[in-house]
Amino acid sequence: MEITSFEQFELNRQLLNAVAELGYTEPTPIQQQTIPLSLGNHDVLGIAQTGTGKTAAYLLPLLMKIKYAQGLAPRALILAPTRELVMQINEAVSELGKYTGLRHLALYGGLGPKTQIETLRKGVDLLVATPGRFMDLYRLGEIVTKDIRTLVLDEADKMMDMGFMPQIRSILEIIPTKRQNLLFSATFGGRVERLSAEFLEAPVKVEVTPQASTAEMVSQVIYEVPNFRTKINLLDYLISKDAFQRVIIFARTKTTAENIYKFLARKVVETDKIRVIHANKGQNTRINAMDAFKEGNVQVLVATDVAARGIDVAEVSHVINFDLPLIYEDYVHRIGRTGRANHAGAAITFLTMAEDYHVQKIERIIRMTIPREPLPTNVEVTETPFDEQQAMLREIDEQRRKDNPEFLGAFHEKKAKNLPPGKARSIAKAKEAGAKKPLSRTSGAHSGGASHKIGGAKRSGSRGGRR
Ligand code: AMP
Repeated sequence: MEITSFEQFELNRQLLNAVAELGYTEPTPIQQQTIPLSLGNHDVLGIAQTGTGKTAAYLLPLLMKIKYAQGLAPRALILAPTRELVMQINEAVSELGKYTGLRHLALYGGLGPKTQIETLRKGVDLLVATPGRFMDLYRLGEIVTKDIRTLVLDEADKMMDMGFMPQIRSILEIIPTKRQNLLFSATFGGRVERLSAEFLEAPVKVEVTPQASTAEMVSQVIYEVPNFRTKINLLDYLISKDAFQRVIIFARTKTTAENIYKFLARKVVETDKIRVIHANKGQNTRINAMDAFKEGNVQVLVATDVAARGIDVAEVSHVINFDLPLIYEDYVHRIGRTGRANHAGAAITFLTMAEDYHVQKIERIIRMTIPREPLPTNVEVTETPFDEQQAMLREIDEQRRKDNPEFLGAFHEKKAKNLPPGKARSIAKAKEAGAKKPLSRTSGAHSGGASHKIGGAKRSGSRGGRR
């Protein structure tokens, strides 16, 4: 049966009213598939990214099940990797559960536990928590787990990336075994599969769209850039354009995020139009920054991957990857911030020669090749400082070694020349046996070889047989 309205699910009036008030007219594909299964008490493994409506897909049946306020101990637990996501899910509970009278509470770190404990003591029906804070409060004896009948793991892949497995295992040990489990993940790979085997019982897998779907919806482009300084110049050029109205700039590290922020706030964007969020920023600063960005008062949000997790903002005009995430699935999460809810989005990636390795892995995940465009002519290309150049070459050696442990590296070639003849010969021999073609050091735009010329349509030969 085709489901075209929420009325077709056996949800109660309180929930249907809330759904109508939120303006949801038609269930999204993940909701169409998950809601009946979940209402039927099945364990569900949902492969869905943010933006698909996955939160309501698990919340509606869950709220239906716990129905009304009862007793003191929670009857459902939702675990999510970050406080931002926990807060966002909790907000969705407030909205969807508006007419149910259910008591719910968000548990996350970064703030003292006092208020959370006080609320727990008054009685709650549903908890939304990060695994760490949940365990902390459990150990303090503040959480009674015996009535938990439903467990949701949201963004399970991210929780594993962030090293939450030990806490999740502890939680599984302290909650009743007879329960319904729902596991949601943006990506599906070996680890998520193993986790679901460990923790779900005869689950039904629902996968709304192949992983590449967000990637297909968003227009993506790569600019090959020789160095950090030129990345900054390119950023300056792009952000100054009118179309860049609501932009998230992603950076791998806190330091880079801070540097980008400082540069833009000094030169390009009015200070009240730009914010930066990362793990070192206080909870309130992060919340304020996200609210201001959501409300449209802020043009540019600079963020690290963890800090940006779960940001739900409609109409992000551009996502800029100042660098590439080392957890490749994060690329999908990053670009998923734009192109949401049928808005066309654009994702722009800045790529140095040392990042080419990562982009190849990402392209395999999203099952497409990201087009490359020449740098706009007005962007100043600066010369790569010696240290930065060396660091990139070292990184490339590392990458080659990862793929081929025998590889001794172009970077080491020079050093070998200064070694005693016997040693140099043995290195040369090993190279002959196992190494790939050494890196060319001719000066291209990347100062790293002809295959990286800016704007050139040329792609490195090694990319050919990848797919
Ligand atoms: P999620 O994938 O759960 O992060 O949801 C993404 C966004 O879609 C949220 O802003 C929801 O409020 C919204 N949403 C969820 N379900 C629907 C629906 N059936 N119709 C329209 N919007 C929805």
